[in-house]
Amino acid sequence: MSRAEVVIDLDALRHNVSLLVERAGGADAMAVVKADGYGHGAVRVAKAALEAGVSWLGSCSLDEALTLREAGITAPILSWLDGPDCDMSAAVDERIDIGVSSVEQLRPLSGARVHLKVDTGLSRNGCPLESWPDLVRAAAASDNEVYAVWSHLACADDPGHPSIDEQAKRFGEAYDIALAAGLEPKRHLANSAATLNRPDLHFDMVRLGIAMYGLNPLAQEEDLRPVMSFRSEVALVKRIRAGESVSYGQTWTATRDTTLALVTAGYADGVPRLLSNRMDVLLAGARRPIRGRVCMDQIIVDCGDAAVAEGDEVVLFGSAARGEPTATEWAETIGTIDYEIVTGMYRPRVRRRYLG
Ligand SMILES: *Cc1c(COP(=O)(O)O)cnc(C)c1O
Repeated sequence: MSRAEVVIDLDALRHNVSLLVERAGGADAMAVVKADGYGHGAVRVAKAALEAGVSWLGSCSLDEALTLREAGITAPILSWLDGPDCDMSAAVDERIDIGVSSVEQLRPLSGARVHLKVDTGLSRNGCPLESWPDLVRAAAASDNEVYAVWSHLACADDPGHPSIDEQAKRFGEAYDIALAAGLEPKRHLANSAATLNRPDLHFDMVRLGIAMYGLNPLAQEEDLRPVMSFRSEVALVKRIRAGESVSYGQTWTATRDTTLALVTAGYADGVPRLLSNRMDVLLAGARRPIRGRVCMDQIIVDCGDAAVAEGDEVVLFGSAARGEPTATEWAETIGTIDYEIVTGMYRPRVRRRYLG
């Protein structure tokens, strides 16, 4: 194996997609593959997700959408966030649907199929309700096909949060305004969390992200399998005596004689330096602690008196079911979300290997 690698289990992805498509009931399912498929590889993820039952793909930018087309993918794609200078002509030529949040965004899209996005409470992209009637009128008068009205939830991962029902209410109002203007759009609102716990918000399509990658946005138990694992190997094994310290700053000192394993993955490979002295790896059948500071290219693992050898595989994160630390554990330890951990694993030095 290479010194550090990300392993992407496409069978796990297919399993998750099947489960989520079933939970979506009669609604269509979109696989969101923005940011290179949350760091998993957009093209491989898109193809596997289509095999497992999604009918749509979602990307952040037209560039990302075109990468999917160039790979031979013909499924419908929705792209929703390009700047005003982007040349949108490919939207028509390559049949990419575009998310539209304003009348200005509609203008360069002559002939394109669009999804009108209403801001129902995220205050990010999406058209504010005050200007929504103008956008709807402009779209109805244009040569664009309006495929759907859509919006995005702010707190779907916090079931019972009052904003969810409030956003759903505003979404309904926006839809009624579109109907009154003579449009007959479909509707989509749900992300992974709402797919899993708000069947009343599935409408015509759900947009699947994090749960498809096997990370659960909710506290409720779900049979999701992490798709990404992060692996490395032992490059050197050494014995140190009680009283010896480890790594830069000597922030950890052995209280007894112990065996250290040097592992070839550091913060340049995606191991946050904030995990110094705060995380385990799976090595030689057990979870063992990282000692001292995470370095640019390496970490040091305390193996006690266990038999470890150069070349032994090390799992930095993967699946709790296999006894491995998880991306979610990393995130909780350093105060972020697992989305950021996996998305941050796209690094030139880290090889990506596919299973399944
Ligand atoms: C990223 C994204 C999603 C997927 O969200 P998850 O929480 O990962 O399921 C859905 N819709 C939009 C508009 C997004 O940007």
